[in-house]
Amino acid sequence: MKIADIYKKDKRSLSFEIFPPKKDSELKSIDETLDVLCELRPDFISVTFGAGGGLDTSRTVEIAKTIKHRYNVEPVVHLTSLHYSKEEIDSFADVLEAEGIENILALRGDRTPLVAEKDDFHHASDLISYLRKDHDFCFLGACYPECHPESSDRINDMKGLKQKVDAGASVLISQLFFENRRFYDMCENCRIAGIDAPVIPGIMPVVNAVQIRRMISLCNATFPERFRKIIARYEDKREALFDAGMSYALSQIIDLIASDIPGIHLYTMNNPVVARRICEGIRNIV
Ligand code: FAD
Repeated sequence: MKIADIYKKDKRSLSFEIFPPKKDSELKSIDETLDVLCELRPDFISVTFGAGGGLDTSRTVEIAKTIKHRYNVEPVVHLTSLHYSKEEIDSFADVLEAEGIENILALRGDRTPLVAEKDDFHHASDLISYLRKDHDFCFLGACYPECHPESSDRINDMKGLKQKVDAGASVLISQLFFENRRFYDMCENCRIAGIDAPVIPGIMPVVNAVQIRRMISLCNATFPERFRKIIARYEDKREALFDAGMSYALSQIIDLIASDIPGIHLYTMNNPVVARRICEGIRNIV
């Protein structure tokens, strides 16, 4: 099933993101994670793809196959392009097609000094335009409520996003954010720019101190005062922080649903307990 078709039925989607484990020893735990996630009957599960190759690129496909064939849930495969040649992308697309995988989250990928960039794809839009010529995938694209860090301003960010949608991205999934206003402003800018693809907010429940420190160092997201207060108060109290982080994410989600967004995409960090708690929290909320 093509993910874009979900939104033609005027249905709100629920989806999860997982990442392939780095170590062989963790492969069993991903099966346990999928047991729980798939029981929650999401509309799709997306599987990340390591930029610049590495073990988990083939794992991405393996996990996507498991999601589709063992659990009968639709997978979305993330695919980065900056570090790959057209030939490499062709063979990857052939594998996806052979496995009946229909949905790709098309990405440029982050720049890294560790892997040389190839010259074939400069933007996600190049990847989509290229693959569309010979394949019938549904393409999703990434968007950024607080602008992509390389965009000089919001106008240029929107221009880049519009090019991605014009190239063929029919659903957009957002980077995580902790302040809904940022997401709503981006959606308004999308409408002004003539982008009419469904824009799905990406929510990450932040439930432990390691995760918080990682977010602060890696992610561009603004931490609102009320979120900072929670972290400061509960950082050293594991269980309290878990509960507070879940409540914060739930309050974001409830506000988003009340504002009629087309779906919720949960960054699960491979933690099935988080996904279950969120689903329980919104069971009666439509
Ligand atoms: P682009 O769409 O190419 O945008 C990058 C910059 O170029 C932006 O400033 C944009 O405005 C501008 N731009 C875009 N198109 C054009 C154009 N045609 N002409 C001129 N300028 C343009 N990374 C991974 O390595 N693996 C993953 O699995 C992964 N999953 C992700 C999932 C989501 C939902 C998100 C939000 C991000 C994910 N990322 C992942 C991170 C992503 O690879 C980085 O954010 C990367 O820096 C940009 O990727 P992009 O596809 O958004 O790039």
